[in-house]
Amino acid sequence: MKILVINAGSSSLKYRLFEMETESVLAKGVADRIGIGNSFLKHTGKKETVIEKDLPTHEEAIKVVLDVLTDPEYGVIKSADEIAAVGHRVVAGGEYFTESALVTDETREKIRDIIELAPLHMPACLMGIDACRKVMNNVPHVLVFDTSFHSTMPDVAKLYGIDYDDYKEFKIRRYGAHGISHQYVSEEAAKIVGKKDFNLIVCHLGNGASLSAVKNGKCIDTTMGFTPLEGLIMGTRSGDIDPSVVQYLTHKKGWDVSQAISYLNKNCGVKGISGVSSDFRDLTAAAKAGNMRAELAIDMFAYRVKKYIGAYAAAMDGVDMIAFTAGIGENTPEVRERVLDGMSYLGIKYDEKLNYDCPRGEVVRLSSPESKVLVYVIPTNEELVIARETLRLTKGK
Ligand code: ADP
Repeated sequence: MKILVINAGSSSLKYRLFEMETESVLAKGVADRIGIGNSFLKHTGKKETVIEKDLPTHEEAIKVVLDVLTDPEYGVIKSADEIAAVGHRVVAGGEYFTESALVTDETREKIRDIIELAPLHMPACLMGIDACRKVMNNVPHVLVFDTSFHSTMPDVAKLYGIDYDDYKEFKIRRYGAHGISHQYVSEEAAKIVGKKDFNLIVCHLGNGASLSAVKNGKCIDTTMGFTPLEGLIMGTRSGDIDPSVVQYLTHKKGWDVSQAISYLNKNCGVKGISGVSSDFRDLTAAAKAGNMRAELAIDMFAYRVKKYIGAYAAAMDGVDMIAFTAGIGENTPEVRERVLDGMSYLGIKYDEKLNYDCPRGEVVRLSSPESKVLVYVIPTNEELVIARETLRLTKGK
C-alpha cells in the first residue's frame, strides 16, 4: 500500500511517497516558491530532477507533484490511483484534536476554527489539505497533528498561571509542538530499552527546538507553549522571556505588539545573540575562529537545554534516557557536549570521542556502560509517523 505524506507551508509543499509494506521511501521532494514567482519543484524518485514551472497555487503544485510521481523517466508509480491514502501534517490541533483524524467536512471545519491559535501556519496547512482533496478526491485523507502527542500533559503542566476562566473561555494554555518527532523518538527509545515504562527526555533540537518529558510513553510536559515561541532559545526565537519585554519594546522602538512578537520569533535566538547566523554550522565555525558572541550563543542555547533537563528530571522523579534528535541534536556535537558536561549529579557518563565521531543518520548510544542515564542520538523521522498514522486510520477503508 502506498501512502503520500504532505507537509504544506505558506509557499512550499513537501511530499514523500511511502511503500508501507517495507516502510520505504519511493520518492520525495518539494514544490517551492508557490505563489511568489520563480517557483520550482525538486524531486528525487527514480532519478533526481528540478522542474522550473509557474506554480501560482497549492493546487497547481500538487498536480505537478502527481505528474512527476507518474512520469516514466522520473516517477515511481504508473498512475496516481496507486496512492491509497494521503497524510497531512497539521501544526496545531487545539483542544479538539487529541489524536489523528480522517478528513471529513466536519473535521475540516474544526481546523478552520483552530486557525486563530496558529495564524502563521494554519492557513497554509488548510490550503494544502483543500488542494490535495480537490486533486485526489477519491482517496481518504488523514490529519496528523504536531500537538497530539502533548495532549496527555496534565493540568499542572499545561495550564498557565492565569485566570482559570480565561483558560476556559479563550483556550489559553500550553499546547506544545514537534509532537510528531517527539512521538517517533519515544517509540524508537522504547524499542531500544525493550519496554515503555521508563522516564525519557527527548531533546528535539532543530531550527525550532523543544524538549519533552515522557513518562511511561506519555508526554507529561514540553517546553513549547501556546505557540512555539516558549521554551528553549532557538535559531531565531527568543524562547522564554518576561512578557513585559514586549510592552517595553513597543515603547522603545515605536512598534505595535505584532511587530514585537515578530521580532521575538524571527530576529532573536542564537541569530540575535551571535549577530552571525541562526545556523549552527555557521555558529560553530565562527566560534572556532574566535567569535565570542557565537560562542556565547552556543553556550546559552545549551544552558537552556540543560536547565530544562534538570526540570524534567525533577518532574518525573528521575530520568532513564536522554535522546537527542533533529538537525542540531543529531549533527552538532558541540551542543551535546555543553549539555552533557557537568551532569554528574544525574550520574551521566558518556563517550566524549564518540560524541564527536558520531556517525550521521544512525541510532548511536553515547552513554558509557556505567552511566546511570542512557544517552542516545536517535534520528527523527516525522514523515514515517504521518504515514503510519495514515495507514492506521485508513486500513480497511
Ligand atoms: P527545522 O526542521 O526546524 O528547520 P532542522 O532540524 O533541519 O530544523 O535543523 C536545522 C539546524 O540543524 C541548523 O542550525 C543546522 O546548522 C543544523 N544542522 C543540520 N544539519 C547539520 C549538519 N550536517 N551539521 C551540523 N549542523 C547541522
